[in-house]
Amino acid sequence: MKTQVAIIGGGPAGLLLAELLHRQGIDSVVLEKHSREHVIARIRAGVLEQTTVDVLRAAGLGARMDALGHVHDGMRIVWAGRDSFYIDCHKHLGKRFMAYGQSQIQEDLFAAADRRSAQVLTECDAVQPHDVAGEQPWVSFRHRGEDFRLDCDFIAGCDGFHGVSRQAIPATLRREFEKAYPFGWLGILSRTPPLPDITYVNHPRGFALGSQRSPMLSRWYIQVPLADTVDDWSDDRFWAELAARFPSEMARQIVTGASIEKSIAPLRSFVAEPMRHGHLFLCGDAAHIVPPTGAKGINLAVSDVFYLQRALAAFYASGSSALIDAYSATALRRVWSSERTSWYLTKLLHRFPGDSDFDQRAQESELDYLKSSPHAQASLAEQYAGMPFEPA
Ligand SMILES: Cc1cc2nc3c(=O)[nH]c(=O)nc-3n(C[C@H](O)[C@H](O)[C@H](O)COP(=O)(O)OP(=O)(O)OC[C@H]3O[C@@H](n4cnc5c(N)ncnc54)[C@H](O)[C@@H]3O)c2cc1C
Repeated sequence: MKTQVAIIGGGPAGLLLAELLHRQGIDSVVLEKHSREHVIARIRAGVLEQTTVDVLRAAGLGARMDALGHVHDGMRIVWAGRDSFYIDCHKHLGKRFMAYGQSQIQEDLFAAADRRSAQVLTECDAVQPHDVAGEQPWVSFRHRGEDFRLDCDFIAGCDGFHGVSRQAIPATLRREFEKAYPFGWLGILSRTPPLPDITYVNHPRGFALGSQRSPMLSRWYIQVPLADTVDDWSDDRFWAELAARFPSEMARQIVTGASIEKSIAPLRSFVAEPMRHGHLFLCGDAAHIVPPTGAKGINLAVSDVFYLQRALAAFYASGSSALIDAYSATALRRVWSSERTSWYLTKLLHRFPGDSDFDQRAQESELDYLKSSPHAQASLAEQYAGMPFEPA
């Protein structure tokens, strides 16, 4: 087999890259490990930055998102049952967010791929990139019991944190930065109306979050010890704990219902540098992970894809490799900006086991400052909304 760009991984990064490259007249083949049903069923991200919404619309993927998604302007922060304040990205920057689930984005991407009879091969085994430092990279894989070799000009590693692409960059050239947090998020999805605002809660019992997917679909989270399992948390116990962390007037607004998904995710910050080695590029979770505080994960995957398709389009159009050479540094600037914001919000909004009374007072002072200072709110709004893409 032969193509211009071999894409490993059919998550949001891989399928979106294929779509954007197609619009530039560039061929690709996507190799995905799991079945389509499995990829679509994963309940993950759902808060899209304005830049992400703009990229999806420009890729012809806006119609269902605009019909079903929930537009909002920022986030509300509440702590210790006291007054809340609102970080208004629209007021400060003219930017809005869209709440629209990752599962729906995946469905839209598969549907777009079907419409153009794209080569998206699911249930591929033993996918392995080869000769990535040379001019003629290739990928080996097994599909429906047969072994294949896919020759290509470039390989895009969009295979998530546990994929194989990052390992194809020699350990001597790769630098990894990591921070693990001493708690996880227990999340449930319910067919109930969300609160009017995405609401982050810092409470002595731990962090809580009320997020949105659509007018009748809500995502709720609470901070739990890493040792907890889903079996420890019946729906009733979850709703009672969630309500205990919200101020009582907000808790009364929470509409409870049966969970349709329940999972625990550990929190981690991770960045691998560089994001390019020879003819291999990393995009999305293959190169970096953020704790979900701030909802940056899928937005970073989209910004990497935006920069990479722009670089490859320039290369195929003019032969210039300037943007390809700049890809890693350009993508990493935005990655580190969102990594810092996600780390900051995680520190600000959680109760860390082992924190001293001094740490606690310092955290409360920071929240007081944010509540009272329009300058601090404007600064956080700018970071939470996500930095604009750099011009080519
Ligand atoms: C439980 C959970 C909750 C999350 N919640 C949020 C949230 O609330 N907000 C937010 O913004 N982000 C969230 N994220 C992060 C967000 O989902 C990711 O940032 C986003 O999915 C990244 O997209 P991606 O395409 O880079 O990687 P993935 O979505 O991980 O896609 C990678 C794809 O590669 C495939 N793959 C892996 N290995 C191979 C291989 N060897 N060969 C072929 N294919 C392979 C995988 O099957 C997968 O389909 C969450 C993540 C998790 C795990």
